[in-house]
Amino acid sequence: CSFAHFNFDEALMSVIRKLEYTQPTPIQSQGVPIGLNGRDIIGIAKTGSGKTAAYLWPMLIHIMLQRELEPGDGPIGLILAPTRELSQQIYTEVKKFGKGYNIQVVCAYGGGSMWEQTKGCQAGAEIIVATPGRLIDLIKKKATNLQRVTYLVFDEADRMFDMGFEPQVRSIANHVRPDRQTLLFSATFRKRVEKLARDILIDPCRVVQ
Ligand code: AMP
Repeated sequence: CSFAHFNFDEALMSVIRKLEYTQPTPIQSQGVPIGLNGRDIIGIAKTGSGKTAAYLWPMLIHIMLQRELEPGDGPIGLILAPTRELSQQIYTEVKKFGKGYNIQVVCAYGGGSMWEQTKGCQAGAEIIVATPGRLIDLIKKKATNLQRVTYLVFDEADRMFDMGFEPQVRSIANHVRPDRQTLLFSATFRKRVEKLARDILIDPCRVVQ
């Protein structure tokens, strides 16, 4: 499909044009309309497929609506990723596409400064991109809370499991309110990821790269 099908506003389309994206990738063509509809998604996609934008574009629209409906503090969007590198890459994409919406975002990864990350959360971050362990530390220290999160993304779920983050991933999913939209992306779809999807997604649509 073409970008015109998404009906994005000028704030987002101007960035897409500037990046010279000519058409959505397959994962975006399938995933964006479903994401915009508010449905849960299982995305089987590798890095390079355009998966980040596939969940990020609907997330930005969700936040635009939700920030009006539910003013307050704490993030509205939460993206979990296995590593510092991936979380920083995602953060860069959020900055790029969120510019026109004045989206406040913080990147919280293990090994980074707790003080800086706390300051970012408390400065009114609407999106947190985090590695699971660090997010739990920040919640324990009351640097942030997940009460307002209504759009939850797990990126590279299989790698988070490989790195031993399954308990943290499940604990975070259990702490986010049930009336949320959940998107789970994974390069592979093995038993453990399938079980997680069954436990935390509601009537998901499956999209494949
Ligand atoms: P990802 O799979 O999200 O890591 O994205 C891989 C790369 O593809 C990133 O550098 C994106 O900026 C780029 N990209 C994402 N969507 C598109 C698109 N529709 N057209 C061209 N490049 C894209």
